[in-house]
Amino acid sequence: MRNVSPWREPVPPDGTMGEPRARGRFGQYGGRYTPESLAQACREVDEAFRRAWADPGFRGALARLLAVHAGRPTPLTPAHRLSEALGVRLYLKREDLTHTGSHKINNVLGQALLATRMGRRRLIAETGAGQHGVATATAAALLGLEATVFMGERDIERQALNVFRMRMLGAEVVPVTAGSRTLKDATSEAMRHWVGATGDSHYCVGSVVGPDPYPWMVRELQRVIGEEARGQCAAELRTGVPDHVVACVGGGSNAADTFAGFADTTARLVGVEAQGGAGASRGRPGVMHGCRSLFLQDDDGQITPAHSAAAGLDYPGVGPEHAHLRDLGRARYVTVTDEEAIAAAVRLARTEGIVPALESAHALAWVIRAAGDGDLPAGSTVLMTLSGRGDKDLSTLKELL
Ligand SMILES: *Cc1c(COP(=O)(O)O)cnc(C)c1O
Repeated sequence: MRNVSPWREPVPPDGTMGEPRARGRFGQYGGRYTPESLAQACREVDEAFRRAWADPGFRGALARLLAVHAGRPTPLTPAHRLSEALGVRLYLKREDLTHTGSHKINNVLGQALLATRMGRRRLIAETGAGQHGVATATAAALLGLEATVFMGERDIERQALNVFRMRMLGAEVVPVTAGSRTLKDATSEAMRHWVGATGDSHYCVGSVVGPDPYPWMVRELQRVIGEEARGQCAAELRTGVPDHVVACVGGGSNAADTFAGFADTTARLVGVEAQGGAGASRGRPGVMHGCRSLFLQDDDGQITPAHSAAAGLDYPGVGPEHAHLRDLGRARYVTVTDEEAIAAAVRLARTEGIVPALESAHALAWVIRAAGDGDLPAGSTVLMTLSGRGDKDLSTLKELL
């Protein structure tokens, strides 16, 4: 792991995926749209993270946690049988093999370590289906912190097992009864709660969303995915860099972090969204949860709810850096349907012996479609991040198949 501060390192000529401009701006997106009490807390997180990220001691401690607790580095797996059938060369970056089964652990271990460094004794988090809540509860237990997780009442009913898992890990799960009683409302409630608890609590955001510095900080904490993959591709591919780099996009953390490893190369970057949660593909500029980005909205500017069989893609917006990458044309955003994702999950299970998370199956569904319609020319090399394992989705799949 590099141990110099990221904002002093060379960034691509156009600066894409380097440090955001002043006040956390990615082009016209990003920023810090919060009440003053939270702006102050965000400034403290920003300062603490910049110091930590420039400190080899912090980087070393995090690298060790990622190695001995989370199981990094994760392998790059060539998908032999599926590649042959599709006529492309597909490589999978295996975040499904991390502890807790998805890339979310990279971010929460980093933020939990930062929280202890800041003298905080509690983590606050929002969660939709419970994946980020479970990861936060895990990191809190490991580092001796308390965890309070806000979760919509409807999600609590739908995800009873993950609620139990968080309580098993010692976390407090707080039901949110406002609005649609799902992730959007849980996020608003977690932020409101943080206002009164900034002195002893750190708000652990789960993706590259929220007020500055979160989109940038979470991307940096997850950057390890793209950096490992870059090195693995250099060793594995004759060309060193894949022709295409593909990942699914909910808030956009696993995609941003994979892209970050390849932003300065000729690789084409493709973010795959759920048809019903396509913030980057179909969103319009707006402000929610502390930042300006692209959100699904009706004509009055009201946020419209997202729908996806993949809980992690069920968010009506996208991180500000993705909005910027879209505007720049550096990354392309596409959508796939629930049905395509489910078919892709079955296909990966039966050709490679891997049951993917439904979120990750979206990325694969695009690869399968694009290999079929020539969007991915025959013989192309494709790196795809497999963001998580499918155990959590087995009951959904069982009902649908
Ligand atoms: C949460 C989650 C996602 C979506 O989050 P991003 O921030 O877009 O990466 C994707 N895959 C899995 C397995 C998840 O748990």
